[in-house]
Amino acid sequence: MSYTLNLTSSQAGEIISRYHVYSIPHTNNYTLFRAKYKGATLTIFKTLTMLIQGTGSNAIYGDICDILNIEKEISITENSVEAFNLSAIGTDEVGTGDFFGPIVVAAAYVPKIQILPLMKLGVKDSKRLTDFKIMQLAPTLMKEIKYSALVLNNLKYNFLHSKSSCNMNKLKALLHNNVIHNILPNVPEYEDIIVDAFTTQDKYFDYLKGQEIIIKNVELVEKAENKYIAVACASIIARYLFLKEMDKLSKEVGFDLPKGAGNKVDLAIIKILKDYNDVIFNRIAKINFKNLDKALKKESLL
Ligand code: MG
Repeated sequence: MSYTLNLTSSQAGEIISRYHVYSIPHTNNYTLFRAKYKGATLTIFKTLTMLIQGTGSNAIYGDICDILNIEKEISITENSVEAFNLSAIGTDEVGTGDFFGPIVVAAAYVPKIQILPLMKLGVKDSKRLTDFKIMQLAPTLMKEIKYSALVLNNLKYNFLHSKSSCNMNKLKALLHNNVIHNILPNVPEYEDIIVDAFTTQDKYFDYLKGQEIIIKNVELVEKAENKYIAVACASIIARYLFLKEMDKLSKEVGFDLPKGAGNKVDLAIIKILKDYNDVIFNRIAKINFKNLDKALKKESLL
């Protein structure tokens, strides 16, 4: 990947003074300055055109834009999201691996013309964004784009899951189908509906068999949040709504509930059991996760 910038002489001076300790010999007469730093080669030609090349060029280009206080030119191929250049509806879910808190599924619609502005806003796969950044970004997104979301609270989840016919993937399929159905009336025109794949295309439609409304022109794509900005938006919105719900539940129990299903969760369960009856988990957690059984057994041994 390479970047080209046209500099003023004072900007060139600024870059040279910043990177002169990393300078390397010129290879021709047209070159004013060359440097190698963190996997990138910087070349400033006598014409004051600067070229940044190499594996580290993306980061160095970012640094240089900051130094010169100029806005980054982001082209679609240079961003981490590949962002297939089409108007799409994307969906993603959050919370399925977390013992505490709901499952949230969101659908987002991004028309072609909004792809670049959203990238400039910092939209990418929510897993690569901190929760702090998500709390900042999501409210803006929710104003800028059309979306729909469903929050499946723990009571409903536990009820549905207790019915043997409704496993996690089936629940996901139902929720994805629903958010797509809900967003469609607000979407003027689109080329694709992309679901971040959690199962195969065939199984997805198997899970939906018997539903009154089935949106059929849906494509399940693996790691879609890296490829489609609409899916990235959906993942950010879903994560945001999940974090808000986790906040509420945390306030209820009086401490920050941990995410995931690891050791911290086990400890939190023990802590909650000191103050509450185990019935509370029906309201704040997914009781079919092994964490609860494990903790209850531990408690009964104490
Ligand atoms: Mg996903």
